Amino acid sequence: MAEKLMKYADAVKKFDPVIGLETHVELSTTTKLFCPAEVHFGGEPNTQLTPVSLGLPGSLPVVNKTAVDYAIKLGLALHCEIAEWSQFARKNYFYPDMPRDYQISQYDKPTNGNGYLDVELEDGTIFRVPIERAHIEDDAGKNTHVGGADGRIEGADHSLVDYNRAGVPLIEIVTKPIEGAGDRAPEIAGAYMRAIRDIVRALNISHARMEQGNMRADVNVSLRNSPSDPFGTRSETKNVNSFRGIEKTIQYEIRRQAAILSEGGEILQETRHWDEASQTTAGGRVKSDADDYRYFPDPDLVMLHITKEHIEEMKAQMPEMPRERRNRLKGEWGFNDLEMRDVLNADALDLLEDTVKAGASASGAKKWWLGELSREANNKGVSLEELPITPADVAEVEKLIADGKLNDKLAKQTVAGVLAGEGTPDEVVKKHGFQVVSDDGALEKAVDEALAANPDIVEKLKSGNMKPMGAIIGAVMRATRGQADAKAVTKIVMGKIK
Ligand code: ADP
Ligand code: MG
Repeated sequence: MAEKLMKYADAVKKFDPVIGLETHVELSTTTKLFCPAEVHFGGEPNTQLTPVSLGLPGSLPVVNKTAVDYAIKLGLALHCEIAEWSQFARKNYFYPDMPRDYQISQYDKPTNGNGYLDVELEDGTIFRVPIERAHIEDDAGKNTHVGGADGRIEGADHSLVDYNRAGVPLIEIVTKPIEGAGDRAPEIAGAYMRAIRDIVRALNISHARMEQGNMRADVNVSLRNSPSDPFGTRSETKNVNSFRGIEKTIQYEIRRQAAILSEGGEILQETRHWDEASQTTAGGRVKSDADDYRYFPDPDLVMLHITKEHIEEMKAQMPEMPRERRNRLKGEWGFNDLEMRDVLNADALDLLEDTVKAGASASGAKKWWLGELSREANNKGVSLEELPITPADVAEVEKLIADGKLNDKLAKQTVAGVLAGEGTPDEVVKKHGFQVVSDDGALEKAVDEALAANPDIVEKLKSGNMKPMGAIIGAVMRATRGQADAKAVTKIVMGKIK
């Protein structure tokens, strides 16, 4: 049954949305949070295990120092207070993919508390997202339901469990209720998630690939009549795993809740899930704040003591943060806001930077990655990074153009050759014998023929009307199979019409 929805514009006029995001980031440590089991994506099921990740009796957890250091770095990037003493707690619940029947998390003494993140919106405004905490916890395993439709538990005849992921370190970043977002709530959530992704990548603490589940978010949404009212009842949409999904979830929940509230109904405090196919959220389990996980300090783990000196050490290792880096590169490249936004939207910042480092001009690098190569990536349905061409290749093509060895047309053919797996640009050029014809008799002959075939154009050129020059260049290009240098052709033509 389709749910009633209010038009988005009306809903945000009538109500004030409040959102909250709980973001899980899977850390890219080589081993698990409490045992030395190695972690690789895509390993054979149940091969990355120790007695600790299976929760076998008598096994004891020992905390992974790298994971704690990663958490501290993230805390610093989010302007959090880093607790001198933090503590792991047991969050008790039964779930078949968690063999201990409790998750080890942090409760009242998280490692990072009380921070914020400034995110940049489409129009350049900065919105400050307040952060409640960023705590360390371990992940559960993975259930696979077999025999039903699309891996759903409904209709399945049996289920399998893979404990490879059980015990992988996560950081959960919890925002305070985000107020004042108004109709931009979806955009702010999307920008926030992308900013988190960029930060964890810059810190090199997570692969941060949403499609591989390295990052996922629980999306809380509530409405109230006015910003001076207390918070309304929220819904919590679990495990949304794409940026678009998060934006769409918020939009949908605002529309759904507005329709209910405006008819005098009540919002259930429940968990929901985002269904990508129908672009809707669907109700799940009704949840109250009284959900009792019987948290208590894990007696198997000592408290974490993080000294001021250690925090200073971590600070010294902090790389440049993404927003500062973007601003610096924008200046160095001489791009305006719009150009920079195009680069970011194309997810081409790293590629551009590497291409410039390899010797290309910023505008040359941008021309290829945002033009020809973006089209190719789109057609193939892959990301720019997945194209079989490197920043060094692109820089080499640019150099061949600058040296007058390739014109635009040949450069495009060279890039096509690289993409087709024919080798580096140099190799492609040699293989096809690409060469700009700029100074030999062949070019002059081709010009003579083009002029002789177009007496009317010659008349125009002689009278100072240069518009038809392109037609002559085109004719010469055809005659030389695209190998003519347009500048050289122009020069020869000018010499002949004097
Ligand atoms: P739980 O762990 O049960 O989901 P939390 O107290 O950790 O509950 O809150 C989850 C998230 O929801 C946080 O980001 C919080 O800021 C946000 N939140 C809390 N109350 C509301 C509300 N009324 N409307 C929107 N977001 C809320
Ligand atoms: Mg929650």
